[in-house]
Amino acid sequence: MGELPVQHHWRSVKDHSRSFWDFTYVYPVISRRSRGLSIGINLNPDKVCNFDCVYCEVDRSTPPKSRVLDLAKVRSELAEMIRLAQTGKLGEDPKFAEAAPLTRLVRDIAFSGDGEPTMVPNFDECVQVAVDAKSAFGLHETKIVLITDAAGLDKESVRRGLALMDAHQGEVWAKLDAGTEAYFKLVNRSSVRFDRILANLESTAKARPIVIQTLLLRIHGAPMPPEELEAYCGRLRAIVEAGGRIAEVHAYTIARPTPEPWATKLTADELESMAGTIRDRTGLRVATFA
Ligand code: SF4
Repeated sequence: MGELPVQHHWRSVKDHSRSFWDFTYVYPVISRRSRGLSIGINLNPDKVCNFDCVYCEVDRSTPPKSRVLDLAKVRSELAEMIRLAQTGKLGEDPKFAEAAPLTRLVRDIAFSGDGEPTMVPNFDECVQVAVDAKSAFGLHETKIVLITDAAGLDKESVRRGLALMDAHQGEVWAKLDAGTEAYFKLVNRSSVRFDRILANLESTAKARPIVIQTLLLRIHGAPMPPEELEAYCGRLRAIVEAGGRIAEVHAYTIARPTPEPWATKLTADELESMAGTIRDRTGLRVATFA
C-alpha cells in the first residue's frame, strides 16, 4: 500500500486546491514531494504572505474563507481528515480515484497554505496540534512538515515550534529561489531583506537538516542567468560551510497558472540541466519535479 509511484497526471496530484468538502483549514493532497498522502493545514486562510512571488498560485482575487485561525477547529478538522484517511472514506472521493491505495497512509501533516505559515503568532501551538493528532491516531512515522519562505524562522514561537517538530519527525522545507538580492526582489518581491532569509536558513540548518525548495522559471522568456545560478550555489555552499546541513534540494518549476503571464515554466530538460549544475557546484542531492 504506500509504494504505488505517484503520477504527475493524477487529478489528486494536479489539483492542490486548499478547499475540500466543508473543511476550512485542512485539505488532503497526493504529493510527489511527500510521495503519497499529505494532509495540509492552511494556517493562512486570510491569504496573507510576506512574499509576493511572481509564480504564486494562491488566488487572491477571491475573498478569504476566514480571517481568523481557530485552533480548536484546526484540531477537530485534522482528526476528522485522519479518520477519513484511515477508514478508506477519503479514497472513495472522485478526486482520489487513481490514488485510492495511497490515501490510507498519512505520509505527512504539512503546514503550508494560502500564505506564510510562520506569520501566525502562535506557531508552536499549531505544531502541538499536529503532535497531538500523531499521538492520538498512532501516526508514529508520519512527518510534520513546515513549508516556509524562511522569513519567520527567527521568531521565538517558530523556534519553539521547530524544536517540537524535531522531537516528532519534523522536516523544514524552506524556499530559496535566488542567489542575489536583486533576483530575490525580482522573483519573490518581498520587503524582507535577503540577508535575513539567508541567516535564517543557516541558523535553522545548523539546528537540524533542512530541505531547500527552489522554483526555477523563465522571466520574460529568460531562465535564471548562469551567474545567478552560480551565486545561488554559493549560498548553499556557504550554509554548509557554516555548519548547516542540507538534506536535499527540491528543484521544480511552475506547474499551475501564475499571476504574471511573463513568469513561465522551464522544460524538463532545462530543469534537469540546472539541477545537474547545482549537484556539480554543491555536492548536494537534488531531486527534480518537472
Ligand atoms: S511564499 Fe508561497 S504563498 Fe507566499 S507569495 Fe510566495 S508562493 Fe505565494
